[in-house]
Amino acid sequence: MSQASAANPVAIDHGNHPLPSYLDASNLGPWGNYLQQVDRVIPHLGSLARWAETLKRPKRVLIVDVPIHMDDGTVAHFEGYRVQHNVSRGPGKGGVRFHQDVTLSEVMALSAWMSVKNAAVNVPYGGAKGGIRVDPKKLSRGELERMTRRYTSEIGIIIGPNKDIPAPDVNTNEQIMAWMMDTYSMNTGSTATGVVTGKPVDLGGSLGRREATGRGVYTVGCEAAAHIGLQIKGARIAVQGFGNVGGVAGKLFAEGGARIVAVQDHSGTIYQEAGLDVPALLQHVAEQGGVGGFSKAETMATDSFWDVDCDILIPAALEQQITAAKASRIKARMVIEGANGPTTPAADDILQSRNILVLPDVIANAGGVTVSYFEWVQDFSSFFWDEEEINARLVKIMKHAFAAVWDVSKDQKVSLRTATFIVACKRILHTRELRGLYP
Ligand code: GLU
Repeated sequence: MSQASAANPVAIDHGNHPLPSYLDASNLGPWGNYLQQVDRVIPHLGSLARWAETLKRPKRVLIVDVPIHMDDGTVAHFEGYRVQHNVSRGPGKGGVRFHQDVTLSEVMALSAWMSVKNAAVNVPYGGAKGGIRVDPKKLSRGELERMTRRYTSEIGIIIGPNKDIPAPDVNTNEQIMAWMMDTYSMNTGSTATGVVTGKPVDLGGSLGRREATGRGVYTVGCEAAAHIGLQIKGARIAVQGFGNVGGVAGKLFAEGGARIVAVQDHSGTIYQEAGLDVPALLQHVAEQGGVGGFSKAETMATDSFWDVDCDILIPAALEQQITAAKASRIKARMVIEGANGPTTPAADDILQSRNILVLPDVIANAGGVTVSYFEWVQDFSSFFWDEEEINARLVKIMKHAFAAVWDVSKDQKVSLRTATFIVACKRILHTRELRGLYP
């Protein structure tokens, strides 16, 4: 029997294995879509392409069991995740999602898109994401709090103000961030406001954070519209999802003179040829939890939403909404991705061939994490800025990032998505190269 030693290893293994099955490109979900997007950028990375494999593997994946006492005396177990895709440029950063359809593959894709997004707007973060597979609408407030706290405690071994900073995402909000911050602080014996962003303003949160993603969507939407000669005043807009992203973006576009003609969410699809009364609709959503039943609009069949005659379509809900079949029906001149991953790669190609401009998620919805960065900086310095300053800095970063991506797209004759991936992946892989491999 041979003994392992430095001179005589038992097995010589140079790695370069095929990707493990859970990372495989044959995965038809969001992770498979992300891998296809990476493959499109590799030919544009020059010598940095030798590091590209790093983009195809998350750095760290944590799966946690989240057991809690339910109000009826039983114990329920939920499955939670935190994935750090890449931390070359700084701590992991990205939201936490509570949704019944959350899977590891989805959270991996969302964490990877955070790496790209954070690099695209050049905030000093890597990419991360978390989630719990749960329908939070079925939990009482006490159950929701216990689940949030146990989850935070379980992922506490990898998060921290300098390690990985969660934030809100689908179905999570300021209150959940307050519970996460408190739990982490209790466990570490500190008041660590910088461990999460998107907190209540009275607890180290930032002014303007709640509106930031929608404001970013509006900002890049206006920039792109100017490039293609589309007037916002009078433009017809359809929005899918009317929460923190779609609701705010819809409000800003309406204030800019656009007509929000159709809105769809989990509760229904509504239409108003003259343009919806957005403030009244936001009030209705705040009271009823969705757009369904709004009296000052007609109701539409769910699937007809994709045939609506509009100039701008804003998917601001979940992934994989715009499939190839729907892409050939869309009438808009421009799609602004408020959601993460709403367009499949096949649909992307169809939209491009039909000359419909797609503003990809990794730039279009980066306003949220940009103000999260401001929040984190304010927490560290314990010095808080006024809303005017926050919005001005947000708009400056978004315009600057968009202009850089637009130029790459024109120069290299690629879609805005590939252009954003080129800018971002070069930044990520450049830091990878500078840091070198450990050990
Ligand atoms: N969940 C948001 C996103 O997808 C924000 C993340 C953050 O602020 O860290 O970009």
